[in-house]
Amino acid sequence: MSKFLSSRFDGLEAYVPGEQPQDQQYVKLNTNESPFPPSPAVLAAINADEVSRLNLYPDPEGKALKRKLADFYGVAPENIYLANGSDELLNFFFMAFCDKDRPVAFPAVSYGFYPVYASLYGVPATAVPLREGFRLEPKDYRGIGKNIVIANPNAPTGRTISVSEIEEIVRTNPNNAVLIDEAYIDFGGDSCLELIHKYDNLVVGQTFSKFRSLAGGRLGYGIGSPGMIADLELMRYSTNSYNISRLTMAAAISTLDSHEYYANNSRTVQANRAYTVEELGKLGFETLPSKANFIFTHCKAVDGGTVYRKLKEKGVLVRHWDKPEIADWCRVTIGSRAQMDVFLDKVREILKEAGQDA
Ligand code: PMP
Repeated sequence: MSKFLSSRFDGLEAYVPGEQPQDQQYVKLNTNESPFPPSPAVLAAINADEVSRLNLYPDPEGKALKRKLADFYGVAPENIYLANGSDELLNFFFMAFCDKDRPVAFPAVSYGFYPVYASLYGVPATAVPLREGFRLEPKDYRGIGKNIVIANPNAPTGRTISVSEIEEIVRTNPNNAVLIDEAYIDFGGDSCLELIHKYDNLVVGQTFSKFRSLAGGRLGYGIGSPGMIADLELMRYSTNSYNISRLTMAAAISTLDSHEYYANNSRTVQANRAYTVEELGKLGFETLPSKANFIFTHCKAVDGGTVYRKLKEKGVLVRHWDKPEIADWCRVTIGSRAQMDVFLDKVREILKEAGQDA
């Protein structure tokens, strides 16, 4: 840290992203990417023609992509905000709606970026404890009188709450901004998108990074009332008006034309999830019910940190956090059936090495 860093960042601890080894030698089940490439139509859309126009800036309004998303979700373009990954949506949500007099609440076990943004903007944050089994209790947010950020499905647990439970949270906090982070909604969960027509305090965040195999393209979006979307646009135009690249916009438009390809991939991921949970169960692992493209799992025989380290030694990357309440657990992205078979084989080896019958 240099002596020039502003004192307003004293104590700021940055988010630590999952490992991204560049040598491809791991079975990579640590950052919830899709195991499938973008659709053939997307590969075709990023062609020499498109590349030859990179001397020109992209459309700062993202009109073509907004129109496409609006038609896809049955909303108006004015309901849509385009972000450089949903992380950027989160950034601008905190920047626009939270401050020291407008504090924020989010689950104590959730996406690690929420407390970082709160800290970045000096926003008092309440980490609401989860209940038994990492269950989020909607009543804990009823009329809480703070801005709220909830991931549904939650990460890293994979657990969901229902649309009516979300509605209760949004309805009972009419003077507060609520962000429902649906990064993982397309793996069997129910989106609360319909609520944006009824409530002006809700933004629903989604991403192309998971279900739509475009993590490297960096595209997220928020859907909400025109007023809140205009506020987010104010943040964007005051930060970086060209936040989505030309190539990403072209890829995203083709992505939306290939919905069946991605829906089919999601069905495969869901089948692989059920298979992995069942096989882990046979090995003595307890796994939380997940509607995401990852599972949160642990076993009594070997602690979470050891499972993570040994898997890494054996060429399989999963995610583990050294936080007391979740140190026993690992989050495992659901990949292809072949990847999950390698993972399960390595888990069997680890149990054997620990003297457990597998
Ligand atoms: N929300 C949650 C809950 C996530 O797990 C992630 C992925 N790490 C994101 C948002 C951000 O994803 P992206 O910026 O790739 O859209």
